Amino acid sequence: MTTAETETGVLAGEQRMLIDGELQLTSGGATFDVLHPASEQVAGQASDGTIEDMARAIGAARRAFVTTDWSRDLDFRYHCLTQLAQALERNKERLRRILITEVGCPVAVTGSQIESPIAEVTHWAEHGKNFDYLIDNGVHDTPLGPARRKIHYEPVGVVGAITPWNVPLYLNIAETVPALMAGNTVVLKPAQLTPWSGSEYGRIVADETDIPAGVFNVVTSNANDVGAALSADPRVDMITFTGSTATGRAILAAGAATVKKTLLELGGKSAHIVLDDADFNAALPMAAMMACVMSGQSCILPSRILLPRSRYDEGIEILKTTMENFPVGDPWTPGTMQGPQISETQRQKVLGLIRSGLDAGARLITGGGIPPDLPVGYYTQPTLLADVDPDSLIAQEEIFGPVLTVTGYDTDDDAVAIANNTIYGLSGEVSSADVDRAFAIACRMRTGNVTINGKSHFGIGSPFGGTKQSGLGYRNGDEGYKEYLETKTIGMPE
Ligand code: NAD
Repeated sequence: MTTAETETGVLAGEQRMLIDGELQLTSGGATFDVLHPASEQVAGQASDGTIEDMARAIGAARRAFVTTDWSRDLDFRYHCLTQLAQALERNKERLRRILITEVGCPVAVTGSQIESPIAEVTHWAEHGKNFDYLIDNGVHDTPLGPARRKIHYEPVGVVGAITPWNVPLYLNIAETVPALMAGNTVVLKPAQLTPWSGSEYGRIVADETDIPAGVFNVVTSNANDVGAALSADPRVDMITFTGSTATGRAILAAGAATVKKTLLELGGKSAHIVLDDADFNAALPMAAMMACVMSGQSCILPSRILLPRSRYDEGIEILKTTMENFPVGDPWTPGTMQGPQISETQRQKVLGLIRSGLDAGARLITGGGIPPDLPVGYYTQPTLLADVDPDSLIAQEEIFGPVLTVTGYDTDDDAVAIANNTIYGLSGEVSSADVDRAFAIACRMRTGNVTINGKSHFGIGSPFGGTKQSGLGYRNGDEGYKEYLETKTIGMPE
């Protein structure tokens, strides 16, 4: 099955990259295969861009930043991004099929990856249009007499955007649209496993918007070197990156030579502290569900469940029941809530971590392997491990699979200490009948974001970022927009 379209809905995306306003294959014409994780079959090909292609794209973005009015013409940017939102809306069902084809995420849960990012384009267009780019900072006394100061927010320049595969269209848009609206020019390098969510976006920009040549470029590639070239190039002023902490470190190091501004959203190992007064029947089925939708391939997933010893067995039973009844299967079937892992490599990583947990003394409550009724496709059973040692590998490494670990605790202080016992600090959750008690615990968690009683911290209107080794800087909210702007202070006569 290498056709572009089949009766199951598999759909291949745009093969060409977008460089300097032209949709094009790499110079040698090389491509790489894109697999559909539910069938393990090749669904089509993407252009295998080279370091030379990346260099041309960066050159085009640099030229567009310096020689066009893009950085100065706010009304035109608003016009182009409004066009983009409309174009994405027109292409919505095509983008959804391409997303399911390359990620394998269930059709039932694609709303947050299709409808939400399209709405976010409109959000950023409006936010950018109404943003105050010039602020009067008042008159200040100086040794040379009074000076008025004005603060001018200006685009950073050429922004390199590097994205992962787990929520590709969402992150391609989240990383690039605020950057564009703020007046930057952009080079996007999508993940190897999900090139089409990037190349289709490029095609839509080229064919259906007035965004000028060079302002937005997309370079797909099967090689990590091409992303590395983007993060090291002196013509790039800023890197915005979402992905693993290991790659984040490499990007930070590559940008050090030119002191590149770097926005990093990295891995997580978040904890859910379930307090002894919590409504277990509200909190735990939801916790189990969140671990399985997207096959656990979510950076903000609270994958470590911390249960009070006084109600330990009760909590495990609820988690087990939800996981054992979770609808795993073909992502194209509307009732499916968990599809496959994105690749065999990822599945083997998940299974290896489960084995390491068992070797370290954890108790398998359910799952632990490949669903026997799903031999084709990279499926993994929803898996629950209890009695997990907080220092063991499975409690320390990001799993990125439908796996929950359970660790018992005695006091609230113990729970906070276990939650904070990680290099990561992306998100977290607290459940309690007493919201003030939960809030006090949330404030003690060394993490960028916390959900209390299922009320999500995540959304376009509020800043989102990681602490510790989960990241640097913010997406979303006004903080997220300002990341793509430099702050210039101008002193002048009163
Ligand atoms: P990854 O770090 O392997 O790859 C991400 C991107 O970096 C890809 O486009 C890849 O080609 C590129 N890349 C790889 N090596 C590079 C290098 N040396 N220089 C520059 N670019 C390079 O991550 P992944 O496996 O694609 O995605 C999963 C990870 O993403 C998980 O750790 C997850 O937690 C994280 N993630 C974080 C957030 C967040 O908001 N914090 C959101 C989604 C995913």
